[in-house]
Amino acid sequence: MPEITVDSLLTLLQEKGTRRYGLHDVSQLQHALQAALLAEQEGCGRELIVASLLHDIGHMVHGLGDNPAERGVDDRHEALGHAYLARCFGPEVTEPVRLHVAAKRYLCATEPDYFSRLSPDSVLSLSLQGGPMSDAEVAAFRALPQAEAAVLLRRFDEAAKVKDLPTPPAGHFRVYLEHCLRSEQARS
Ligand code: FE
Repeated sequence: MPEITVDSLLTLLQEKGTRRYGLHDVSQLQHALQAALLAEQEGCGRELIVASLLHDIGHMVHGLGDNPAERGVDDRHEALGHAYLARCFGPEVTEPVRLHVAAKRYLCATEPDYFSRLSPDSVLSLSLQGGPMSDAEVAAFRALPQAEAAVLLRRFDEAAKVKDLPTPPAGHFRVYLEHCLRSEQARS
């Protein structure tokens, strides 16, 4: 498998990100940039900014075509994205990505009005993903080291669907990608 670099990640986002994001009037790239910008504006650490930028990369590395959820198929993009990113990033980046769908199921179980604020395609995918968590699943989720980061990422994900919102270009996030790749290389 070719090595993952900052340039290869930015190219992937830019080339595969032209597809529409779900049923929204934003592209995959705009969605990624909006999520990362929200994380940056909220003062999150570099790892969570990178996780926000790359959280849907699983949609870009599967071969299931556009909107598999519309055909009743769960693309398991959180697992695909996690497996892809685990080749070069540590758990502070990869765990929120892996857990961002679980975080939706968690919030639906624990925040009474969360479900009512979900967009129609999130409601559709929720049913494919297992619906709201049970009490036992909620407890297990809370015990995970990256649970809070995953919930934050989920909130950025939900908010990152604004048509025509100006964002910086993907290159703005290069410094964060470089930092996270370097620190993982130093660790391994
Ligand atoms: Fe998303």
